[in-house]
Amino acid sequence: MHSDIPFINFHSHFLSEDEDVLSVVNIDLGAGQTWNSELKACSVGIHPWHIRKIDIVDQFLRLEDACRQKNVVAVGEVGLDKMQGPELNFQSRVFEQQVEMADHYGKPLIVHCVGAYYELIAIRKKMRTTIPFVVHGFSKNAQVLGDLVKNGCCVSMGTSIIHPASSSRKVLKEVPIEMLFLETDDKQTPIQGVYMAAAEILQIEMDTLKSVIYDNFKRITNPG
Ligand SMILES: [Zn+2]
Repeated sequence: MHSDIPFINFHSHFLSEDEDVLSVVNIDLGAGQTWNSELKACSVGIHPWHIRKIDIVDQFLRLEDACRQKNVVAVGEVGLDKMQGPELNFQSRVFEQQVEMADHYGKPLIVHCVGAYYELIAIRKKMRTTIPFVVHGFSKNAQVLGDLVKNGCCVSMGTSIIHPASSSRKVLKEVPIEMLFLETDDKQTPIQGVYMAAAEILQIEMDTLKSVIYDNFKRITNPG
C-alpha cells in the first residue's frame, strides 16, 4: 500500500530518486558546494572541517542568500569537532555566527558534534536561541543524550542502529520520540532500513513511526 507520508531522511549527502523519500540534502559551502532551487529540501552551512579564514566572508554572503530560499529547510551541517578541523575557538566563532543566521531566518540547525557536547550546550544557553538544534549522527550514551534533551536539543540517528550489537539501539529507546529524526548521512543505505530498525527497536508500527517523524519534521521546519 502506498502511503502519502514520506520517509524523512533528515541528513543525507546524496539525492534520492525514491518518491517515497524526502531527503534533506546537505550542501557544504565550505567544500565549495552550491545551493540550487531544484532540490526539494536541503540544508546549507559551513562544515567545521572546512572552515578557512580566507573564504569566510564570501561563504556567509552565500549562506545568507540560501537562508532566504524556501527549499533550504535548515542551516547545517555546522558545529564543533575536537578531532578534526581548525582550533576549537575559531570553530566556535564560526558556529555562533551560523546560529545567529539560523535564528534570524527562523531555520533549525543540523549540528555536527564530535567530543564537544558540553561546549555545544554552553553556546546554546549563552546565545539564548530557541531555534531547534538537531544533533545529527548521534551515537553517544544516555547521559549525553539526557543533557542534550534537557537543553532543548533533538537528535538524528543513522545507520548505526541497524547493527544488532550497536549500543545506539539502547540509546534510541531513551530519545523522547518527538525529538527524534532518522538519517543516512554519507551512507548509501536506503533510509527505509533505518526506519525498519527503529520501528523494531521501539516496537511501534512503521506507519506510526513515519507519521511521528514527519510531524517532527514539519514542526521544526515550519515554526509558528
Ligand atoms: Zn553529514
